[in-house]
Amino acid sequence: MTLWQETVTSLSQKLRAGELSAAETTRAFTERIESIDPSLGAFLEPMTAVATERAQALDALDETKRGPLHGVPIAVKDIISVAGSRCTCGSRILEHYVPVYDATVIERLHAAGAVVLGKTNMDEFAMGSSTENSAFQTTKNPWNIDRVPGGSSGGSAAAVAARLAPAALGTDTGGSIRQPAALCGVVGLKPTYGRVSRYGLVAFASSLDQIGPMCQTVEDAALLLETLAGDDPKDATCATRPVPSYSRELDADVAKLRLGIPKSATGEGIDDSVRASFDDAVRLFESLGVETEAIELPSTEHAVACYYLLATAEASSNLARYEGVRYGLRNGATKALREMMAETRAEGFGPEVKRRILLGTFVLSAGYYDAYYQKAQRVRSLIAKDFENAFERVDAVLMPTTPTPAFPIGDKVDDPLSMYLMDIFTITANLIGAPALSFPAGFSENGLPVGVQLVGRHFDEATILQLGHQFQQSSDFHCKAPDLSR
Ligand code: GLN
Repeated sequence: MTLWQETVTSLSQKLRAGELSAAETTRAFTERIESIDPSLGAFLEPMTAVATERAQALDALDETKRGPLHGVPIAVKDIISVAGSRCTCGSRILEHYVPVYDATVIERLHAAGAVVLGKTNMDEFAMGSSTENSAFQTTKNPWNIDRVPGGSSGGSAAAVAARLAPAALGTDTGGSIRQPAALCGVVGLKPTYGRVSRYGLVAFASSLDQIGPMCQTVEDAALLLETLAGDDPKDATCATRPVPSYSRELDADVAKLRLGIPKSATGEGIDDSVRASFDDAVRLFESLGVETEAIELPSTEHAVACYYLLATAEASSNLARYEGVRYGLRNGATKALREMMAETRAEGFGPEVKRRILLGTFVLSAGYYDAYYQKAQRVRSLIAKDFENAFERVDAVLMPTTPTPAFPIGDKVDDPLSMYLMDIFTITANLIGAPALSFPAGFSENGLPVGVQLVGRHFDEATILQLGHQFQQSSDFHCKAPDLSR
């Protein structure tokens, strides 16, 4: 196996044992980015010089000081602050913004010995499902460059699928880790709300946002989560509860576990290939001794509407800070303050971000607040109740990750509603705050990856990781990689 094909788990073992140097490992990936990424556009900014320097410093470290991710290169979605490197959020308004501090997740990765490889492309401010809303470039799906990689963490997903990085960080507000992971044939984990610190993450919808790992295997996701998770005094929403050693528990017996299969999971609007892979996944779990049971989640049919009211309301308030005074772009600097702000926002934000700000401001405005925002909050509680009821009987819920495999670039750009429907299975986990893990479960007739996801109880990442890991021990979908030699 060539170096760049290896998983985080195997690289970290070899790096810690001194069988590989951090410098040669980083070089293998930076060279691959240089030769392959021009045709994919996964990275906005490779950080070759910084990464190389850091890798050399790691090689000089005393053997006893090697962390669990010693020398492992990791790509980072461009919405997470890495001190000294631009953090554009895929937006013109932050095109030249350079954070002066590291996000807590970056501090933790550094403390564990990881090397940040570069910043990856995304939909502007994480709003989108295809990376087509990036102000800078559209990332291509490595399995078929005429297709989208999904979004909003499409750059991170494409980077891992094309083996330009063994792992990447993504963020998930309504599915942005899991949906691109599914469309690119990789693993993506959205941790429980509060499991991972968001200090240094640019906010989109604060009651929904979470940071999580994207990688080749569930085993890698467990290892990365151990590093990322845990209390952080700098983030008031971060949970104080201790972090279990997920990797050590991966082989726990799953035979007595119960898996809920929502009746809506294979309903209308779902592609045949997704339905077939989902049915196969159910059977594979059953063959592992897992008991399956049909469940009802009646309120989830309103999840998309509920999400797009709440997420836009929160975004309209979070994005108010980009007004040309404190951050990034300033246009019309010689004009009166109001005009300067209006001009900056008009030119700095793209069409989808503007649509969300308008929608969000509308649903929060006097006279409409009760009709929309309050009602959406009540629906959110009903959805949470559905899952609470389900989790009294089952240990996890299995669902498709997306209704279809990757769609052609350009297919949905003029139809925001059909784009929003790509999130139909992912947003419930964000609305209820539960952890959810997407992993490869098959391929469509034309060779595009299909994913399924497990949703777990709050703070029970351990169970979904065990189930996902044992699924991968009995299948090889995750071992397949796109052929990029063409
Ligand atoms: N596609 C969803 C949206 O556009 C989810 C985004 C996300 O999770 N960041 O809002």
